[in-house]
Amino acid sequence: MLDADAFRRWMAAAAAAVEREAGSLTELDAAIGDADHGANLRRGFAAVAAELAKDDAPDSPGAVLTLAGRQLISTVGGASGPLYGTLLRRTGKALGDAPEVDAAALAEALGAGVAAVGQLGGAKAGDKTMLDALEPAVAALAEAAGSAGPYAAAAAAAARGAESTVPMRARKGRASYLGERSEGHQDPGATSSALLFAALEKAAG
Ligand code: ADP
Ligand code: MG
Ligand code: MG
Repeated sequence: MLDADAFRRWMAAAAAAVEREAGSLTELDAAIGDADHGANLRRGFAAVAAELAKDDAPDSPGAVLTLAGRQLISTVGGASGPLYGTLLRRTGKALGDAPEVDAAALAEALGAGVAAVGQLGGAKAGDKTMLDALEPAVAALAEAAGSAGPYAAAAAAAARGAESTVPMRARKGRASYLGERSEGHQDPGATSSALLFAALEKAAG
């Protein structure tokens, strides 16, 4: 079971990963976008980490994600801010005020969050976006819930999902303006989604 502390560790680990990988996320975005994905997420997750380090930090998993989502929406100007913000807020809302959640409950809540991302951005799997990492990660988490290592399974699925975007042609977001020239590059948002699930594995372990 994961409590509010584990969720705060998750967001802190995500902030650290984004900080560490900001350069390579921006490099990926330079190839098929506007070279700001690393900077966008670094600013957003630094705000999340600062908010969650305060004394009155939220004390349920759902409230941690809701607060984090709100921070991302208010601090990130790019497309990824509202999208990740919606993911975390919607997932947090679905968790309600339960003091602890297991992998099955988190998978279900993340499913609602991922669906909201799809609705907001109008993208679906195969469009070369963050959804190509998020969807398989949540499916793997649901499938592995109850067996050993559900979070490792989800992280591995997210990483494979991010890699699967390399040959895809972008149909949503800035990269879609490039048409076939977007092929052959890994999607920045799918790459940061894999970092998010690697951070969850770390925090849960
Ligand atoms: P911007 O494109 O506004 O500069 P970022 O560079 O921070 O924003 O984020 C780009 C990432 O956002 C893309 O790599 C992609 O994964 C994701 N993205 C963009 N548009 C969409 C969308 N409509 N649906 C889902 N994800 C999207
Ligand atoms: Mg960008
Ligand atoms: Mg931008």
